[in-house]
Amino acid sequence: EGRRLAKLANAPTRTRDGVPIRLFANAETAADIALARARGADGVGLYRTEFLFLKHKGLPSEDEQFIAYRDLVLGMGGLPVTIRTLDLGADKADAAGLTLRGEDNPALGVRGVRLSLRYPAVFTTQIRAILRAACYGPVRVLVPMVTQPDELIAVRTLFKLARQDLKREAIDLPEKLPLGAMIEVPAAALNVRALLEHADFLAIGTNDLAQYVLAADRGNDGLENIYNPLQPALLRLIAYVITAGRRANKPVSLCGEIGGDVNFTALLLALGLCEYSMHPSQLLHVRDRLALLDHAALRRQAARLVRARTHEEVAALLEELGQ
Ligand code: PEP
Ligand code: MG
Repeated sequence: EGRRLAKLANAPTRTRDGVPIRLFANAETAADIALARARGADGVGLYRTEFLFLKHKGLPSEDEQFIAYRDLVLGMGGLPVTIRTLDLGADKADAAGLTLRGEDNPALGVRGVRLSLRYPAVFTTQIRAILRAACYGPVRVLVPMVTQPDELIAVRTLFKLARQDLKREAIDLPEKLPLGAMIEVPAAALNVRALLEHADFLAIGTNDLAQYVLAADRGNDGLENIYNPLQPALLRLIAYVITAGRRANKPVSLCGEIGGDVNFTALLLALGLCEYSMHPSQLLHVRDRLALLDHAALRRQAARLVRARTHEEVAALLEELGQ
C-alpha cells in the first residue's frame, strides 16, 4: 500500500474517466511545505497566517511576516500559494491581545476579517508583507469569515492604499494579486453571487460553515449526531456555492477537514468540486481515491444527494453508489 501510494507522488490527479482535479495543501510550517512539494500538490490552497500571531507575544513585524510569506512562496517553487489574512477570534484567541475580551459569543463575534478591519494599521502591516512577498511568485489572498460584499470592498481598498504607499517608497509590487473569499458563513453561501462580483475566487471552509449552519460548536464532542458533514443543509450550500462559482467562471476550492478525508472525496466530486485543499499528509490518499471514481456517473447523482432529507439518507445513498 505504502509503495503503491508513493508512486502517486508525481502522478497527475485524474478521476477514472480522466477528469483532471487540482489538489492543494493546507500548509504553514516548513515541514508542511516540503511535504506538499514531495506529494505533488498543485500549490498551497490555505496558509493560515494566524499561526504567526499565535506564537508571538507581541505582533509580528512587517519584515517578519514578509520573510515567512516569501519563504512560503519560494518553498513552493513557482506553484500558486493562497495566503489567508488574519483569522483570529473564536477558537483562535491570540497572544497579542487583538481579540476582544468578554464577548458573550466569540464564534459570532468580532473574528476573522471583522477583527482585521477593526485594526486597519495592523491589517495594513500584513497587507504590505503579502504584497512584497507576492513579487517572488504567484500569490492569491484569501479573506476569512466574509459575510457581506462591503468587507471585500474594504479589503480591496486597503490593498490599493498599501500599493500606493509601497510605490511611493519605491518598493517592488506584484502586477496582480487575486483576492478571494472564504465561504464559511451561511449568509455568504446564500448570497454568494453578490460576493462573486467582488471576489476572484472562493474557498469553502466547511469546518466553520458546518458549525454555523448547524448551530453546533465545531469543537464540542457532544454534538456528533448534529455536526455531521453529510447534513443535507450543508450539502445544499456547498453545491450551490460550487455551481455559482462555475457559472461566474471563478475557481472554487474547499479547504475544510472533509477536503482531505477520503470518506468525502466521492461526495464532493458529485457536488462538482474540482479543487480540494487538505493537510499534505492526505494528498496521496485523495489522489488515489479520485483515480477510482467515475466523475460523470457521480455528477449524475448530485441532484439525488442534495435532495436527501437526513444525513443517514445521504450516507445510505453514498453506500449504494459504492462509496
Ligand atoms: C474552515 O473553517 O473550514 C477552514 C478551513 O478554516 P479554519 O479551520 O482555519 O477555521
Ligand atoms: Mg474557518
